[in-house]
Amino acid sequence: MPEYAFIGRSNVGKSSLINMLVNQHGLAKTSQRPGKTQLINHFLINEKWYIVDLPGYGYAKVSKTSREKWEKFIRAYITKRESLQCIFVLIDSRLEPQQIDIEFCYWLGEKQIPFSLLFTKADKQGMTTTQKNVAAFKKKLGEFFEEIPATFITSAEKGNGKDDVLQFIGEVNQDFVVPTE
Ligand code: GDP
Repeated sequence: MPEYAFIGRSNVGKSSLINMLVNQHGLAKTSQRPGKTQLINHFLINEKWYIVDLPGYGYAKVSKTSREKWEKFIRAYITKRESLQCIFVLIDSRLEPQQIDIEFCYWLGEKQIPFSLLFTKADKQGMTTTQKNVAAFKKKLGEFFEEIPATFITSAEKGNGKDDVLQFIGEVNQDFVVPTE
């Protein structure tokens, strides 16, 4: 079954976003605590496709060894997964481009893994700041990629971007039916 994975730095708002997309509160647990998602969680949607909740990267409070081990595990998972249609790389729209996010995108590019950019928490600041950070991120990617991937600006708080993301998944997977509550 087709899979759509979501990944990003700890606390980027991944659980909240997954909740928003699947429309069922509490399905992916949200937490104030960074690094809570420690396992790869699958959510079967409409018995047709999976949302794959990948653990956050860049969690500063774990040891270097366990971080490296974890990274290896995620990277192996991503590169081996044949049913993986697209990875949504979640980026905090409040921040200027972060090296760790850029490097992860570069790595996906090297491995030729399709990905999209998904900016989170857009309700937290004005649209000008969001646009500035999004543009700066794309510019950075432009140093490496000829074509910039699909970009979504979202707010799990306000529900922004939900339809666009679901429609995009629908376009990648023709059998897709938007989940109902
Ligand atoms: P995860 O660690 O990436 O899964 O992040 P969570 O979904 O647990 O969110 C981390 C924190 O950011 C929580 O306190 C959320 O309530 C908050 N948060 C997540 N998404 C949004 C958003 O779109 N807007 C706002 N204002 N807060 C958000």
